[in-house]
Amino acid sequence: MILRSIFKVTALVLLSSLLTGCFNWAARAVEKIPKETALDKSYNYNGKVIIIGAGGSGLAAAKILERNNIDYTILEATNRYGGRLKKDTTLADFPIDLGAEWIHSHPKVLNAIKGKKGEEIDEELIPYKLENTVKWDGKSLKSANRYWKWFYRFMPESKFKNSTWYDFMDQNIAQEVKHKILFNSPVSTIDYSGKNVMVRIENGDTYMADKVLVTVPVGVLQAGKIEFIPALNEKKNKAINAISFLPGFKVAMKFSEKFYPDIIQTETGYGTKGGETTFYDMAFKKEAKTHILGFLCAGKEAKSYYAMESKEAIVESLIQELDQMFDGKASETFTGEFVMEDWSQQEFTRGTWVVAPFEKTSDLKTIAEPLDKRVYFAGGTVDPHRQMGAPGSMLSGYYYIDKLLTEE
Ligand SMILES: Cc1cc2nc3c(=O)[nH]c(=O)nc-3n(C[C@H](O)[C@H](O)[C@H](O)COP(=O)(O)OP(=O)(O)OC[C@H]3O[C@@H](n4cnc5c(N)ncnc54)[C@H](O)[C@@H]3O)c2cc1C
Repeated sequence: MILRSIFKVTALVLLSSLLTGCFNWAARAVEKIPKETALDKSYNYNGKVIIIGAGGSGLAAAKILERNNIDYTILEATNRYGGRLKKDTTLADFPIDLGAEWIHSHPKVLNAIKGKKGEEIDEELIPYKLENTVKWDGKSLKSANRYWKWFYRFMPESKFKNSTWYDFMDQNIAQEVKHKILFNSPVSTIDYSGKNVMVRIENGDTYMADKVLVTVPVGVLQAGKIEFIPALNEKKNKAINAISFLPGFKVAMKFSEKFYPDIIQTETGYGTKGGETTFYDMAFKKEAKTHILGFLCAGKEAKSYYAMESKEAIVESLIQELDQMFDGKASETFTGEFVMEDWSQQEFTRGTWVVAPFEKTSDLKTIAEPLDKRVYFAGGTVDPHRQMGAPGSMLSGYYYIDKLLTEE
């Protein structure tokens, strides 16, 4: 009898660890963090390089060029750097990430981006281990604690404690290269038909280079904002257009008291290919005094919000939805202050993120293929290390600039 019980328990433990292991995103992500990056190598390249886009990937690539005294310029369409890494310091007593916010991979990935060896992490992080979570089905709130407990085991995410993804990128990458950015320079044409590559920006100015690294979001390529001469072949165009680049936005709303739990998951689900709509406590474990509730909307749900006439109308509808859940508590305590960053309606972003594991690997590979070994592609979408989002974009900058500098 005792032996049978021991056997049963052992079998259960083995089965559950096998299942968690098979579906453990974190374990896979850690395995794929590169041990070495372009930061560990030196390059002897005499040509001129143009990087298109000053987001995390473009800036990381630039860091390699800067460290190796290679001639380069960064052409950035907007008047700021960071791309989908952006912070707000006006609404709360802690900096708010308006773009990337969570570290979906293992914190070790931060060391890989910095080029730091060893396991010790310099940054103070908050494990995103939620304690009080609910699900809203449009009628009533139910506990979602079991789901989130399982989710944390599958993907033990974290957040920066007193900082943001933007700050991490700024301190560890941008400061070294920002003097090489030409702002307000949206690239309209990349002509690689001649001996050199000619890059034209919207005002007609042209720049010549031996090689070019394109790091614009896939949405910008889908919109045909950049003309390639010769044109991209059918296979590449098909792959670019097959990618699901979710539309969406983020809102941070300020309240005079905290009436909400750590997260309110809605019926549309979390992290699916169709996107997500989630309310969440932005100040979670931040030791902050201000109460900020975030709303992240990505995917098909974004369309219904975009049908509303203004940002204020969107916020008003969110407050009404919260009132339904919490018996009018939202309107009672809303201070009227909010910040909204609408990523998909920005001309040079046109979306939020790509969930690479849901895309065909062959499409991702096709997008990353260089043109004539002179025009290369980098960015979150084509991250070969599968780290997702922000870390993936920076590591992809290192990866593809290495290819650009070494392939002949
Ligand atoms: C709301 C939101 C939440 C997110 N949450 C997370 C998260 O929690 N964790 C995570 O890891 N990731 C998250 N992400 C994804 C992450 O932010 C991105 O994957 C990453 O920042 C992409 O970096 P990138 O360099 O590839 O592209 P980008 O940051 O988009 O940089 C591209 C740059 O190219 C410029 N550009 C575009 N067109 C042109 C042109 N024609 N000429 C010149 N320049 C041009 C753009 O202005 C931009 O500066 C989130 C994204 C959003 C929007």
